[in-house]
Amino acid sequence: MCGITGYLGGKDAYPVLVDGLKQLEYRGYDSAGVALVSDSGKLNVYKEKGKVSDLEDYIGDKDRSGHVGIAHTRWATHGEPCARNAHPHVSASGRFAIVHNGIIENYSVIKENLERKGYVFSSSTDTEALVQLIDYMSSRQESSDTVSILQAALREVVGAYAIALIDMEHPDCLYAARKSSPLVIGIGDGEFYLASDVNPVASYTEHVIFLEDEEIAQMCCGEPLRIVNLANDECRHEVTTVPKSLGKVQKGGFGHYMLKEIYEQPDCIRDCMRGRVNIEDKTVFMSAVHEHRDRLLSAGRFIIVACGTSWHAGLIGKQLFENLCQIPTEVAYASEFRYSNPVVGSRDVVFAISQSGETADTLAAVELARSKGAFVYGICNAVGSSIPRSTDTGSYIHVGPEIGVASTKAFTGQVTVLTMIALDLAREKHSIADSVYHEIVGELARIPYKMKSALRSDERIAALSGIFTYARNFIYLGRGYSYPVALEGALKLKEISYIHAEGYPAAEMKHGPIALIDEEMPVVIIATRNALYGKVLSNVQEIKARKGRVIAVVSEGDDVISRIADTVIEVPSSLECLDPLLSTIPLQLLAYHIAVCKGKDVDRPRNLAKSVTVE
Ligand code: GLU
Repeated sequence: MCGITGYLGGKDAYPVLVDGLKQLEYRGYDSAGVALVSDSGKLNVYKEKGKVSDLEDYIGDKDRSGHVGIAHTRWATHGEPCARNAHPHVSASGRFAIVHNGIIENYSVIKENLERKGYVFSSSTDTEALVQLIDYMSSRQESSDTVSILQAALREVVGAYAIALIDMEHPDCLYAARKSSPLVIGIGDGEFYLASDVNPVASYTEHVIFLEDEEIAQMCCGEPLRIVNLANDECRHEVTTVPKSLGKVQKGGFGHYMLKEIYEQPDCIRDCMRGRVNIEDKTVFMSAVHEHRDRLLSAGRFIIVACGTSWHAGLIGKQLFENLCQIPTEVAYASEFRYSNPVVGSRDVVFAISQSGETADTLAAVELARSKGAFVYGICNAVGSSIPRSTDTGSYIHVGPEIGVASTKAFTGQVTVLTMIALDLAREKHSIADSVYHEIVGELARIPYKMKSALRSDERIAALSGIFTYARNFIYLGRGYSYPVALEGALKLKEISYIHAEGYPAAEMKHGPIALIDEEMPVVIIATRNALYGKVLSNVQEIKARKGRVIAVVSEGDDVISRIADTVIEVPSSLECLDPLLSTIPLQLLAYHIAVCKGKDVDRPRNLAKSVTVE
């Protein structure tokens, strides 16, 4: 899941590389490194455990010269995070330096073979096996052509890779290749940029190419970009123009990206609805729905595949599709779906949800579903990423770059897009009355305003959070549409505060988790006023009877639960199917403030990375 940057051109490479790494740190931050072809023609490699800023401190005033370089911020899969395992890795002969994102699944076989041939390994990574293999292939070929050496090596590789490579026999060139991990090439004036996502590149050029699977790019000074595949066919690519606005994202006065992104939600949801929700006549128009209307409406079943927070959005999507459209919907973890030999066919429509559009398991699920004849609809945030490029159709959530590792605005964006798709389909299918349709759309249009007032609870939640830093466990409960919100609230807390938290359907509590409840156990319960309110009220009583400490998220003006619960947090009233868009906000804030009180690094939680591009 690491971040890769590369540069070749007239600028000093080091600042470009490091600046890019900082924008990619959401992908991994356990160690970082850079390799530069110095002005004196030497290969300088610097690596350090920790963040990019630790690498900068380590490099200090060492030789940072050079116009060609590659860099990496790591999220370890093989080998502990330390300077020795950090990338770039240099081959035994010193000829090649590589940075890699992905997993070389057959690395141990490659390593053993090479060890028998006398290669000595200095790290515990899978990546080193690849650079040594490239080295070995170079020793077996008469030609010193790097592309054919790479082709020979990559044909032996099983697994996923995005790589950037320096070959000291061709120090004026840079090489890149990918399979199942993302890589973007930026084309400037006599210069090339490489990055794992478009943002670092977009700071310098609007012209980008998304490398495809099994393609190798050769970038040399004064020469045009050359792309070939493993079979040595020349590959043609359209240059995509990316908007300048995709440039650097700042914290904008907030202490953390996560808090900034929580606060951005009213604007993001407005952006997400722009051109889709017509406030005047209370209608929704999703172009993908209309373009593929018949295909969607003739589906026997919808299947939503996703991971993590996106999977929680999918659980809400299921209820929307079933309640509003009467279309049977299943929700699967992409990682389970892909290996479950699923019964999927041409009558199914598969929705793939991923913020980054690069989630490895979701991408594999998309490919599997398409190979079985299903029609695939992507719901992503990152424009031009792999999932939107490999699906039949899709809708972007348009919430802007999300940098905080714990997803916030992408979740509400995904739920908003799912709501709009469900409403548009329901209207086409006549599965809900026109009056209900207009009522929901009208209320959806008001959500950004209501989110703003939900954010007013921030100060109270901040004040409240200090007392929960002692907690070792939390339970989150909800029913119906609020159940996935409970799961999402628990996940947020786990991710950034490292407190164990479980989300549960409120009524299921009696079948097990109730045994955990005592005066030490905080229970967060989503109890907004809806059809299940009375039932949830009983669940609150059950917890209080066992001395649990109840924090209830209630609808404004609730005077029943507020008398029983220890703490209530109010959110504006809304329609039941739209409640998740509001009740999620206090849970995001609660997780954020508890983590801050515990002194945790909210934007860089341990062991996590934002875009999970490895299985
Ligand atoms: N497998 C490589 C390592 O552990 C790269 C990891 C990744 O891409 O996340 O160093």
